[in-house]
Amino acid sequence: MGLLAWTALEYALHRWVLHRVPPFRRLHALHHEHPCALIGTPTWLSAPLFLSLWEVLAHEASAPTASGIATGLMVGYIAYGFVHDAVHHRLSRRGSWLHRAKERHARHHRAGSMTDFGVSTGLWDRVFGTRSLPVQRHAGAVPAERRT
Ligand SMILES: [Zn+2]
Ligand SMILES: [Zn+2]
Repeated sequence: MGLLAWTALEYALHRWVLHRVPPFRRLHALHHEHPCALIGTPTWLSAPLFLSLWEVLAHEASAPTASGIATGLMVGYIAYGFVHDAVHHRLSRRGSWLHRAKERHARHHRAGSMTDFGVSTGLWDRVFGTRSLPVQRHAGAVPAERRT
């Protein structure tokens, strides 16, 4: 449950915090300007947030439930870190899951940052209608950004 919740949280944080709320917006803009630079959320910020979330869940439910959900969230967060690093720095085989993630994230960086907020998965972009269409590569195709 925590792992699935992470994918929704990743989408929400990226779309509504990193692209809107200062000072996160300015820091995230640095990533958009320099996508291959090693810019990310510092542990001194993320670790207290996970601990605070655990405290709230433990208070509202139980310590084992809070631990399970927090573990799923943290595993999702770490996986997101690996995927985000890979989409910017690793090679991928055409047609692979990583290749599709790289293309999706590249569209986010290209499209004025208003589409494709999901890095680990495109699920929530489909749900919220922020998924862009991949550019077709065969002759005569019209690029997605030119379609009306
Ligand atoms: Zn990125
Ligand atoms: Zn972004």
